[in-house]
Amino acid sequence: MEDLNQLKAAVRGKRIHLFGPPGCGKGNRSKDLQALGLVHVASGGALRAKVRDDPDSELSKTAQEIMKRGELVPDEIVVPVVMEHLNKPECKENGFILDGFPRTKAQADLLFSQVDLDLVLLLDVPRSFLIFGVVGANRRACVSCASGYSDFDPPKVEGVCDRCGGTIVQRADDTAETISKRLDGYDAETRAFLPDLEARGIVEVLPITVADDDDVGESRLKTLLGEVYRVDIGDGGTARMLNLDGMRERLYGFLAKKFM
Ligand code: AMP
Repeated sequence: MEDLNQLKAAVRGKRIHLFGPPGCGKGNRSKDLQALGLVHVASGGALRAKVRDDPDSELSKTAQEIMKRGELVPDEIVVPVVMEHLNKPECKENGFILDGFPRTKAQADLLFSQVDLDLVLLLDVPRSFLIFGVVGANRRACVSCASGYSDFDPPKVEGVCDRCGGTIVQRADDTAETISKRLDGYDAETRAFLPDLEARGIVEVLPITVADDDDVGESRLKTLLGEVYRVDIGDGGTARMLNLDGMRERLYGFLAKKFM
């Protein structure tokens, strides 16, 4: 507990961007960072909230259609939504986690003209897991607090959030077709500007796989139907993956090393 308080103090005010493709765990890592006191600013979540709160406006209808297709919402819509959150005093005081923004070089340039980041954390998840983790394992999330679940990490009671009791639903854009389109968009538009961020010296990689000789304990490993899950990592190789508790520990360990 003392360690956790020290870590909270060390990350207070930090501005962290989570970088990675759809399905890499940005939502869950954001929850872990939120628990340290940082404010979660998620462009996708903010857009979905806007559509939910004001479904009949032209802006909401346009955004909803585009999101359903798995395409990028125009900057005129997404930029003000994100900047409105980032400019809140709580983001300045506590620090923030940017999740899902920037997604294009233009958005990155605009962001850096207004805000500096302390860290870009690249969530390194094997490509073969991305579609399976979302579609095959039925990714779903709480509509109230956005906690993420899947068949790997099901809630105690199906449909009810363990953390806040809210309703758990699957996203309309989490279909095989949309996810592969969103992955293509990630490669073409988002991954493409990663070298710009690397040139600023702020990118660090956080892997989700566990080396075979690393004894993290079974309680920290992803399991499916009671079996330790092994993901295909190419060239015929497979690896184990950390589960939510395992990734939280790895993330906190990384932050402690970096900021304490
Ligand atoms: P996410 O929740 O991050 O997976 O985002 C869901 C959808 O919201 C994306 O597929 C896009 O349609 C839209 N979206 C979220 N963030 C952005 C962004 N930075 N730029 C454009 N569109 C976005």
